[in-house]
Amino acid sequence: MSAAVYALVANSCVAALFVVTYGLLALSYSRQRAAIWFMVSYLLGFLTPFSQLLIHFTDHVLLFSLIGYGSFLGSILVMAVGIRVFSGSPPHTRLMLLLWMAGMALRLATMHGTRCTLPYEIAFQLPFAGASALALVAARRIRQHGLIRALISGVFVVIFAHFLIKPFMAVALGTGTTAKAYAGSLYAIASQISTGVLLVAAGLFLMLLVIQKALEETILDAETDPLTGLTNRRGLYRMGPTMLAEAKRDGHALYALVLDLDHFKRINDRHGHAMGDLVLVAFADVLHRLATPDALAVRMGGEEFTLLLPDRGGTDHPLDNRAVRLSRAIRSALESFADRNLPVVTVSGGIARQEPGETIDSLIARADQLAYRAKRLGRNRILNDRIDMPAPEVVLRPVPVETGGDQRARARG
Ligand code: GH3
Ligand code: MG
Ligand code: MG
Repeated sequence: MSAAVYALVANSCVAALFVVTYGLLALSYSRQRAAIWFMVSYLLGFLTPFSQLLIHFTDHVLLFSLIGYGSFLGSILVMAVGIRVFSGSPPHTRLMLLLWMAGMALRLATMHGTRCTLPYEIAFQLPFAGASALALVAARRIRQHGLIRALISGVFVVIFAHFLIKPFMAVALGTGTTAKAYAGSLYAIASQISTGVLLVAAGLFLMLLVIQKALEETILDAETDPLTGLTNRRGLYRMGPTMLAEAKRDGHALYALVLDLDHFKRINDRHGHAMGDLVLVAFADVLHRLATPDALAVRMGGEEFTLLLPDRGGTDHPLDNRAVRLSRAIRSALESFADRNLPVVTVSGGIARQEPGETIDSLIARADQLAYRAKRLGRNRILNDRIDMPAPEVVLRPVPVETGGDQRARARG
């Protein structure tokens, strides 16, 4: 058996391994839809060397030649679709199908040309070069993952160049006088090894990309509160110290605002737990809207929230204008709950401004102390370490003080 046959067997096995691995990735991380496209790509890629082997060992030369060619072209186009899916771009599957059909038409039209001539070999490789150029364009659209994106782009540049060089390689080395003689040619050995190595590189880098994204999404899930979509305590303790370090480095202020909804248990008792959940979600939305892109809104647990807020304006105003404005914005947002048929709630809280040398824990602990004091002073206020609020002009409809059981039960008599 010729060396090329071993290379064809090796490439079939490697492609099959990629099919299995991408299949398992797609099963383990169902949100990584690109993994399914890459699995299909390597499944088609497997058919190519496998068809070459069947050409060599059977008499169905024309059939397996077309299957081998079509599957390889399909494999690269599907890889380009997978990369587009990964980056959230429209997959353009119809366009890819049209390109595949155009490539097959070119192959059929030139099939009976003279092998080992430059025009014949260029017509053979041109669709593959076009498909890898599309994959390269798709790779340029990947956001983030800078290093891996650069590696993938680099591999597709080499793959593209490789298909342009291959016609010259074919003419120089000889591809065999017939399709059946291909597996015995010197060109077949070189071609199978170079293409095999490049598609292994593409497959590995794309896999790294999928795994990295899956890990990032898993971390994000673990750091997100499922009810409100805000960051949870775990996320705060990962991101908070970074925000504090940035504030120290850039010399801007960092505020911690700790908030606890007042008498929240009564909301549950009177309106039901589901309504309590709606209030928590609505309150989280308020924080989300007030949080600037560089701020971090956190649900600490239950009805307790924290907002970490960098103040890049560097205001040293004695009344800490920003904190005052924020407290007022929270108050007016809570007042608007009644217009949305939500029970009116009030909130007690504390705002602390980072002191030199302070840790995130001590900053939040100081804001928490202020929130605790706000509760003792009668709730419905946000205390600042410099000014006591609420501002006198803000009047809230008070939450009834008595615990009266379920309002709906009372309404029913
Ligand atoms: P205070 O003004 O002193 O803070 O009183 P409170 O009733 O708000 O505080 P307390 O700690 O006594 O009760 C908090 C309530 O929050 C009790 C719990 O049932 C409710 N709670 C915690 N997590 C959730 C949740 O996810 N959904 C709902 N609906 N309620 C929750
Ligand atoms: Mg509480
Ligand atoms: Mg509370």
